[in-house]
Amino acid sequence: MKVPFIDILRFENNFFETVTTKTTELIKNGHFVGGPIVGQFETAIKDYTKTAFALGCANGTDAIQVALRAAGVEKNDKVLLPDMTFWATFESVVNVGAVPYTIDVSKETLHLTLTSVKEGVEKFNPKAILLVHLYGWACPETNEIRKYCKEKGVLLIEDCAQAVGVKIKGESLFTNAHVATTSFYPAKVLGACGDAGGIFSNDQKIADTAKILLNHGRTGHYDHGMIGWNSRLGAYEANFMVESLKHLDARLESRRVVCKQYREKIKNPALKFIAPHSDVWENGYLSVAIMTPETRPAFIEYLKANDIGYGTVYPGAMSAQPGATAHLGGKISHGHAEWIAKSIINLPCFAYMKQEEIDYVVEKVNQFKA
Ligand SMILES: *Cc1c(COP(=O)(O)O)cnc(C)c1O
Repeated sequence: MKVPFIDILRFENNFFETVTTKTTELIKNGHFVGGPIVGQFETAIKDYTKTAFALGCANGTDAIQVALRAAGVEKNDKVLLPDMTFWATFESVVNVGAVPYTIDVSKETLHLTLTSVKEGVEKFNPKAILLVHLYGWACPETNEIRKYCKEKGVLLIEDCAQAVGVKIKGESLFTNAHVATTSFYPAKVLGACGDAGGIFSNDQKIADTAKILLNHGRTGHYDHGMIGWNSRLGAYEANFMVESLKHLDARLESRRVVCKQYREKIKNPALKFIAPHSDVWENGYLSVAIMTPETRPAFIEYLKANDIGYGTVYPGAMSAQPGATAHLGGKISHGHAEWIAKSIINLPCFAYMKQEEIDYVVEKVNQFKA
């Protein structure tokens, strides 16, 4: 048997047919960018995430950039972000002319903590913080961090690229975020048939500004009140996601079952599975286990020999990237991000993974000898 790390083509019956029929209609009607389908998607994702305002844009990286600017981050402002995230989080700060400062994450929860945020705020006095929710979970101290940032007057922007569908105490993660962003890259839990992203807020002013920024700073057709971007959402991507949203709960549930089975059935002491905080409803984006920098290389060889795909999300700290050197304003490091980068392992996990595939992974992983 061969089990890929991810298979993004496992769709429901008739999903392809419905999408292609509707795509043909869009082409015939000349709806290529924007149009009614984009508005339809924005309403659907706003309802799904339970937010007041939702906007589609070109990708998840642009979403962070637009959100930073819309929230009030300007040139040379200091922005804190976790040292363990996808590079786009770091890049976005630099791309809006601000200065990135990395703070270390917890070795236990792999996310920022209130303590690490406080330490960063006291040391660097930033204008904003990018809180990143990884692996299909929510940062365990999200509510505490939100409250603290509000008290201190620090802008909090949440990178929810991996967190569509995630809930805290039964409530959508997006609902109480000041500004949140996501990515609809095809491999994310709600993927488009191309690049796409989303910006969410409960603040009308931020939403209005974001809408202007992602469409050339337009305040009228040829009136440009700001320097923005062309980051509009395409009609085909919107159409694809309108259909996907109808099946999203079922897709997430099938992913959650995979993560749960690994945690319950894999008993190999070489892997320590990490579960989200008990208040958090995960979306099943990734299965996460921690090994050690010493045991992981042999395990990876073993997975390859057994035709099992894997991920190491992410294999490096942000502050250690060659591209970071020229831009990093400062960092607080305890070596955790580097250690996680060398110890993390992600087993195959995707929507509609077959039980026999899950069983094969469980059996092989249990047989591995460190
Ligand atoms: C995927 C991702 C992004 C970037 O999204 P793109 O759509 O690829 O630009 C940003 N942050 C995190 C945490 C991501 O996982």
